[in-house]
Amino acid sequence: MSEARHTLFSAVLLVSAGIVGVLSAALAATSNALVPRVVLWSLIASGVAVAAVGLVSIWRYMNASRAPLARAIDALNRTAQGDLDSDLALDDSPDSSELRTALESVRGSLRESEVSRDYLDRLLTSMSEAILVVGSEQRIERANNAAAAMLDYDIDSLLGASMNDILVDSGDRRFGDGAAMRPREGAFRRRDGTLTHVSYTVTSVRSDDGSEQSLLYAAQNIDDRKKVEQRIRYLARTDSLTKIANRMQFQHLMQQAIARAKRRRQYLALLYLDVDRFKDINDTFGHAAGDTSLEMFVRRILDVIPESSVAGRLAGDEFAILLGPAEDTDRIIEQATNIGAKVLRAVGKPFEVQSEEIFMTTSIGVALYPRDGDNVVDLLRRADAALYQSKKAGGNCLEFYSQHMDSSAEERLTLKNKLRRAFERNELRLHYQPKYAVSTGRIAGAEALVRWDLPNRGLVFPADFIPLAEETNLILQIGDWVLNRVCADYRDWQRSVPSPCRVSVNLSLRQLQQQKFLEGVRNAFRTHGISPTCFELEITETTLMEDTDRTIRILDALYGMGLHLAIDDFGTGYSSLSALQQFPISTLKIDQSFVRDVSIDRDNAAIVKTIIQMAHSLGLEVVAEGVESQEQLAFLKTQRCDYAQGHLFGDPMTSDEFCALLIAEAGGSGRYQALFG
Ligand code: C2E
Ligand code: MG
Ligand code: MG
Repeated sequence: MSEARHTLFSAVLLVSAGIVGVLSAALAATSNALVPRVVLWSLIASGVAVAAVGLVSIWRYMNASRAPLARAIDALNRTAQGDLDSDLALDDSPDSSELRTALESVRGSLRESEVSRDYLDRLLTSMSEAILVVGSEQRIERANNAAAAMLDYDIDSLLGASMNDILVDSGDRRFGDGAAMRPREGAFRRRDGTLTHVSYTVTSVRSDDGSEQSLLYAAQNIDDRKKVEQRIRYLARTDSLTKIANRMQFQHLMQQAIARAKRRRQYLALLYLDVDRFKDINDTFGHAAGDTSLEMFVRRILDVIPESSVAGRLAGDEFAILLGPAEDTDRIIEQATNIGAKVLRAVGKPFEVQSEEIFMTTSIGVALYPRDGDNVVDLLRRADAALYQSKKAGGNCLEFYSQHMDSSAEERLTLKNKLRRAFERNELRLHYQPKYAVSTGRIAGAEALVRWDLPNRGLVFPADFIPLAEETNLILQIGDWVLNRVCADYRDWQRSVPSPCRVSVNLSLRQLQQQKFLEGVRNAFRTHGISPTCFELEITETTLMEDTDRTIRILDALYGMGLHLAIDDFGTGYSSLSALQQFPISTLKIDQSFVRDVSIDRDNAAIVKTIIQMAHSLGLEVVAEGVESQEQLAFLKTQRCDYAQGHLFGDPMTSDEFCALLIAEAGGSGRYQALFG
């Protein structure tokens, strides 16, 4: 028994003894017993005294036992108010010591959570990304310094503001809905109403008990990137000499115009122009004079065609004009005839080059939508056929397309039939073009390129038959053949070199759209017993941006299998880098049109430099396509481009030749190593 309890026990005994004493004295007094009164009174008095002493002891005990409780309550209160450091001021009794341990442990956890809250605050403050936490009704609950700076508010005035007033979503449909957690593009409205382009992610955060949900926006300013992107797009779509649409852009605009005309049942005319005897001007006066003449040619055309029409440069001295829309065939024929005549007159006026008077004329072929064709390819082909007739007629004139001109239509049909039989006759070939690591000069991969070995014609290049194959399902068969051939070749190489480099295969949109595409890919790897990690698929920007949701699903599955994915011909499409971030891509291939002039054109050099920087900042590796000169390679090296591919390192080669190259390199004699300095 503890000492305190002892005291209490004795006190209770004293009180009881006192009471018993008083009671027995009182009893004796009332029963007339022969006890002297003095004795009785002194008995009562001592009973009362003993009981009083007992009561005082009990009172003291009660007080003493209440004190630790009061102290404990006090200590708890102080802790709750955030005092985690001062002395707890409890006594040393065993009960109190248990209490102390419990309280110290509570204080410890509180101290830790405070540290982590401070840490989180410091983390948020130091982040260069703007962070906004948005709670119910889209109200901003938290913001960091970067967000305040980006929006030009102070943090306090951001709190409680509505996110709807800040974020202007791009509403870009190219960002698939299925990609909610992936970066999106939009704009933040600043205090003065101006917009800042941002790339942002949204993550939903639930409170611990799951009752509340907040959204965490993490955003990066991409104004600079946007400017560069616009510049890339401009350069990619514009002819650098004449500043009108280049071939790709002209075809794109034509496609849009056709779609519009189809909806509204309207009519269009395509004028295909080719400068007569342009080669003579070039040969006589030199290339600079040739360029000046073409600039003059375009200025004169632009002076006479209506504002609603589109002009483009298709190749060297080939141009095109799209006229319309008109409400019927007669009217579009009339318009084409009138404008055509004006163009011939305007172009034909003499002008001076190097003090010499030059006469330049042009031939024009016309095809009409929808009479002569309802798509870009057919219309261009038929206008070209008509152009050929006007050349044959001596030039400086205009011809409308008519069916008898079209020998190419038939030729295409026979070519298509022959392509169908190419499989049975084993006429397809696969060539490999090595990719070199710029920093070491070692082979880092190879791209598989298909060719068609057509008897009596020689090797046909993909540009001449892939579009044909894409018009039919033949491209699926070709794609299948290519993948299986690559796997078989890879197996062959493995017999000579333990781990051949990674091989890239090009994919067409039609292949991706195929229902059983994934199954086909899986089967190919299984059949040949090759790991998908040895392979890379190349997909163009344009293909990626078709049906993004579906494409993301398929690419995620391919990536899950271990395949690498690369974006091909970057710069020629219409996507933004942020939009590309939603795909699981690890490599970006810069289109050859940018690489071609890096050593002579400052614009292209700046673009390639920025693409490399941006790609690296997004964690992508960069391949430069079409490297043909030592100067280009030197430039790429200074820009830390990862890989180079191109004719500088020879033409694409057969599987055996490539294997020999791999063996030579494994033996330490890389053929092109010296080029890399
Ligand atoms: P791509 O994927 O961009 O392939 C690069 C093209 O550039 C190849 O043309 C290659 O031979 C060429 N090239 C490489 N180095 C240089 C160079 O230094 N200078 C120049 N001027 N050109 C260079 P190719 O073989 O004619 O292929 C053209 C396109 O056809 C390919 O462009 C690709 O989109 C497509 N293609 C090729 N093979 C396949 C295939 O198996 N399936 C599919 N769907 N498409 C394919
Ligand atoms: Mg490619
Ligand atoms: Mg390419």
